[in-house]
Order: sequence, then C-alpha cells, then structure tokens
Amino acid sequence: MTSAQAEMVHPEMVQQSRDGEILILTINNPPVNAFSPGVPEGLKAGLDAAAADDSVKAVVIIGGGRTFVAGADIKTFGRPREEAPDLRGTIEKLDAFGKPTVAAIHGTALGGGLELAMGCSYRVAVKEAQVGLPEVKLGVLPGAGGTQRLPRVVGAQKALEMMLSGNPIKAGEAQKLGLVDEIVDGDLLAGAVAFARSHADARPLPRISEKGVDGGSPEVFATAREGIKKTHRGQLSPSLIVDLAEMAANKPFAEGWNAESGKFLEAMNSPQSRGLRHIFFAEREAGKIPGIDKSTPTTEIKSAGIIGAGTMGGGIAMNFLNAGIPVTIVETQQDALDRGLGVIRKNYENTARKGRISMEDVEKRMSMLTPTLDMGDLKDADIIIEAVFENMDVKKDIFTKLDGIAKQGAILASNTSTLDVNEIASVTKRPESVIGLHFFSPANVMKLLEIVRADKTSDSVLATGMALAKKIKKVGVVVGVCDGFVGNRMVHRYGDEGRKLVEEGANPQDVDAAMNALGLPMGPFQMGDMAGLDIGYAIRQHQAKVAGQPKPDGWIDRIVETGRKGQKTAAGVYDYGEDRKPRPNAEMTQLIADYRTEKGITPREIGQDEATKRLTYSLVNEGAKILEEGIAQRAGDIDVIYIYGYGFPAYRGGPMQYADEQGLKSVVADLKQYGQTPAPLLQKLADEGGTFGGWDKAKG
Ligand code: NAD
Repeated sequence: MTSAQAEMVHPEMVQQSRDGEILILTINNPPVNAFSPGVPEGLKAGLDAAAADDSVKAVVIIGGGRTFVAGADIKTFGRPREEAPDLRGTIEKLDAFGKPTVAAIHGTALGGGLELAMGCSYRVAVKEAQVGLPEVKLGVLPGAGGTQRLPRVVGAQKALEMMLSGNPIKAGEAQKLGLVDEIVDGDLLAGAVAFARSHADARPLPRISEKGVDGGSPEVFATAREGIKKTHRGQLSPSLIVDLAEMAANKPFAEGWNAESGKFLEAMNSPQSRGLRHIFFAEREAGKIPGIDKSTPTTEIKSAGIIGAGTMGGGIAMNFLNAGIPVTIVETQQDALDRGLGVIRKNYENTARKGRISMEDVEKRMSMLTPTLDMGDLKDADIIIEAVFENMDVKKDIFTKLDGIAKQGAILASNTSTLDVNEIASVTKRPESVIGLHFFSPANVMKLLEIVRADKTSDSVLATGMALAKKIKKVGVVVGVCDGFVGNRMVHRYGDEGRKLVEEGANPQDVDAAMNALGLPMGPFQMGDMAGLDIGYAIRQHQAKVAGQPKPDGWIDRIVETGRKGQKTAAGVYDYGEDRKPRPNAEMTQLIADYRTEKGITPREIGQDEATKRLTYSLVNEGAKILEEGIAQRAGDIDVIYIYGYGFPAYRGGPMQYADEQGLKSVVADLKQYGQTPAPLLQKLADEGGTFGGWDKAKG
C-alpha cells in the first residue's frame, strides 16, 4: 500500500484509492455529490498526493453513488466568496496539473460538475450520462470557467445554445461535440482507469484553456443577443453569458476567466437570481404539508372519470391521457360530448403536426378515452373530477348522484373556481373523500394545480392529490377553502385596483404596459379580455344582488353592456384583429372619459411607477390576509401559484418575494399613500423589519 492509498484526507467527501499507477478520487457527497465545502479540499489534497507520488501516473475523478457532481451546492449561493467552496481554485489546480486527469461521468455533470470535468485533461462517460450548464435557470452563469471552456470545446454557437437554454445534452451528443472523449460500456471506473492508463504518457497534456473557439463570428453573438430579447426578456444573466462567450472567442483565456468571476458575482447578487433561487426552493417546499409525510397512505390512480367535456373537462382529461391513465368522460348531450372529443383530438393533432408526438400517440391517447352519457359508467373510477357549469345547485346535484355511483375509496373532486367545497362535500355521505382540484385554463398547458383542502378532506385523499399532481406533471399547491382560493382571490383585488387606476385617469394600455414592463405577458385588462369580461361581470352582478347592493356600474361594466366580452367577441377593453393583438378603441376611450365626467372625476396623470406599485401591492396585501387566515401555508406557496398560474415572471420570485425585495416598510408606506389599509400581518412584519421569507422560515 502506498502512502497515497493509506491517507484518507477527507473520508466523508473525497476518498483516495489506487489501481496500480492510477490514483482514483471518489467524491462522496450524497445524494448528488454537490460541490459543497469539503469537496474542493478533498480534491486538492488528492491532486497534491498525486503530484508528490512518482508512482502515480494519472488521476481519475469519479462520483460515488448515483452521479458525478450534479452541480454547485445551491445553499452556498449568496455566501461571501471566502466562505463558498473553492471550485475555481480546484479547477485552476487541475488546469495546471502535470499529469493526466480523467473525469469519469455517470448520472449528471451539471454546472460546477461539468466545469470540473472540463478542467480535467479528458472526460469519459457512460452513455446514459448527461452534461450541461443550467446556471441560467437560477439567474446566474457558469462561474468556474464554463463560459470560457465550453465555447472552446463545442464552438460558439452550440455553447451559447447550451448555456442560454440551460438544458443538458446526452453523452452521445457530447462525444460528437468533443466534450466527451470516450463512451464507456460496462463498468465506468474500470473503463476510466483503462483510459487513464492508455493516456498516462500523453504529452503535451490537452488543456481546454489553450484551445481557440470555433465559429465565434460577430454575427453569432449579435443573433444570440436578438434571441434573448425574446426568450429572456428583461433578464440579466443571459446577456452576461453572451458577453462572456464573446470574450472567450476574442480574448486570451485568462482575461475571460477573470471577467467571468466578477460577472458571476454580479448575477448572483441580483434580485433576479434571488427570485429564481427563491422559486426553486419554494416549489420544493410547496410539496410539503405539515402532518403529512411518506407514511400517509395514498391511493394509486389507475383510472379517472371526468364530468363535463367543456373547456376545462377536455383539458383535464388530456393531462390524464398524457400520463397513460384511462379516462371516462361524461356529458348530458351527445352533441356536447362530440364537440368535447373533437377539441381534444384537434389539440392532439396540432401537437403531432408540430412533431412533439406521433400520430400513433394521438390514436393511442384517444383510445384510452371513453365517452359516455351515463354517469353510472364512473362506478369503477379511482378519481372523479367534476368540471360542469359554475353553479352550486348543479354541482350539489352531481355530487349527490356521485355518492350513489362511485366505488368506496374513490376520490370525488370538483374543479370549481369559486364555490365552497365544504358545501359541495356536505351533500355526500363521504366528505372525507371530497377535495377541490382547481386546474387553470388551458388545463392541458398551465402547470398550476390548486389542491383545495376542505374541512373534512382526509390526509390520505390530500396526499393522493399531491402525488397525482406530480404524476400528471403539475405543480400542486395546497390551499384552503375561500372565495377564489389563493390565486383568483388575489387576482380579483388586482383587477379592482386596475379598474380604479383607469377611473382616476390612467389609460388601460398604460396600466397593462406597467405589468408588461415588470415581465408579465399580460396586464389586468389583457388578461380580462382573454378570460372573458362577461365572467367578472356576472360575478359582480351576482355578488351585489346577494348583498342587496345596487347594480354595479363601473366603466368596465358599461363596456360589457355594449356587447364587448373580450377576445371571444374580438372586442373587449381592446379591439382584436386576426393577429389577436390588443388595440385601443377610440369609442371605449370616450366611454371611459364620459364615465369620469359623469362621476365628477377629474382625471390625473398616473405614472408607471404608481401603476406598478398599486397593482403588485394589491396582490401582496391580499396575499398577507390569505397567510393570516391560513388559506395558504407559506408566502412561498403564493409565489409558486403566481408564477405557474398567472405568468408572474419567475425572475421576480413571485409577488411576495417581490415585496420582500422592495422592503416591506416601503410597501406599507406606499399602500397607505395610495389609500389602502395594509393587512395586519404585513404591517407587523414591516414594523419588525421582517420579510415574508423570514416569516415562512420561522413557521418551519
Ligand atoms: P364549460 O361551460 O366550457 O363546460 C361545462 C360543461 O359541462 C359543458 O360542456 C356542459 O354541457 C357540461 N355539463 C353541464 N352539466 C352537466 C352534467 N350534469 N353532467 C355532465 N356534463 C354537464 O365550462 P368550463 O369553463 O369548462 O368550466 C367548468 C368548471 O371549471 C366550472 O366550475 C368553472 O368555474 C371551473 N373553472 C373554469 C376555468 C376557466 O378558465 N374556464 C378555470 C378554472 C376552473
């Protein structure tokens, strides 16, 4: 046994062992061998040992367990550089190393993992392995040489594509690109050691840092800059990535390497990266429900029933069919059933035309869908989701019937957007089996699923709902019963504020522009026109009637009363042509002006800053009330809801994180200035100098 073999420098992180003249460094930092503190120290010690020992001819670096280094340790992001694991130092040492080094890749080599591998002389991989630089997804950039080395291996164009999408590639493609030197069949370590042995005498050692960049013409970078205006509008890190890739093409390695370090810190310390990292963690947290864990029994969903083949029912059915779960879909009339099935088929055929599925897939999915006019056919379904008209009497009637039809243990779910799930459950003899599953339109596209926990919903049904969300590729968030649950309840306040802004003097297009500038694809009026103005109109009329109040008569109600219902009538707040782009309408501008005159309102100039604050803070204020009432478990859950259900840009982190970034004291001061009363929780956190993020943490 040599001294290197006997010495275990960081046994918990990097283990040294020998196979003849090859030193093997095995990184053991389960579950994904993230580049945490301890890993760089272990690797450096291993390299020192290899340098000091003449009998070592080459080094293999491999991951223990199921993967190579799958990335940086995200928990260490945002720490001062001195305290962060020294990935750059480790890679510098590798780059200057005098003996061949071989990265042996299985699982994934992502981010810092791929940067580490590119610091080695060679890379070998199993064919299932994947490599990539996903940093852009967290609002940062490869900060340990990735922006400088990847273009030197795969060329400027491909490197930009990989770094800007953040998507990994498979080992086979990586080999074609020269990023992987050899694909190992069979045992990776044995293959890597054999490769190291056969390259032990190779000199000069190949160093990526000494190569040039292929295809780095000015046009390639100009095109990339144009491209990110569309794909990453308003985002910092993609433009820094393009700048750095351009440096790789035009400057010596050392210059780009040094510049990258500063730009990495700039990106990491930006609110955008904080927002994206917040959502990364919030999405994982959202899956946790206090009191419910892995031991909570769940039911496997092998078949589904859906009642109503309208807009929502059809989209919901597609989610199940896509996941290979057969669906029975019920309507009251044959023509409605035919129409519903026709829409599903057309959607699938469109997807096939775009090449995302085959025509065979279309037929296979359609064959798993059983249409019927008889609710009795739902007797064997493991879950039944009702998606009929938003009317309590109709829903109660259906749940009463379902109670007599569904097998014991079946989950009975409603897709209601506003109605009381407790009241719906009350008509059954098994309220513990009733839950709300609030999908968002278009239900086959939108990733959010609000999972509504009613008073008597059992833990097992709730846990099954969460597991189901994952299975059908949705992001499930648990919410409590209240009018509109979390998302729609907040969006109603936001809509109110938007209408008030116009009443006071803003143009609808300026209000929408404020939200577009924040990164939302649609502002409140663009969204209203898309969803249908008649829906909000009907709700307002109904609520006023129930409350014994006079008929609502806002400017928006007057617009609806002219017959303009939004995109579906090609006219709403805006006009719509063939291109479906909103255009202001002179008559509506006049209608609004007349409305103000009639109400004695003198219009005033409203700046974008005021519009942005009033709209976003109306969301935040309602969100704070929702937290106090326990309708949402965490501020992070609200942010996840807004990102996946309402197009709030992930790089802003969602409305609650956005408020934290602004500082809750200033949010409260602004709300008061604009005549709103801050919710008690918001006021309290502002007084204490707290944040919603801190409140989530304290709650545990
Ligand atoms: P829709 O009018 O498009 O579809 C409802 C369908 O239910 C119709 O085809 C109707 O024929 C059918 N139906 C009515 N009574 C029935 C019965 N007794 N048995 C079988 N079928 C019956 O409505 P939608 O937009 O799909 O909305 C359905 C539900 O989803 C509502 O509760 C709504 O609030 C909710 N929702 C809608 C949206 C949205 O954006 N449209 C979003 C989330 C939730």
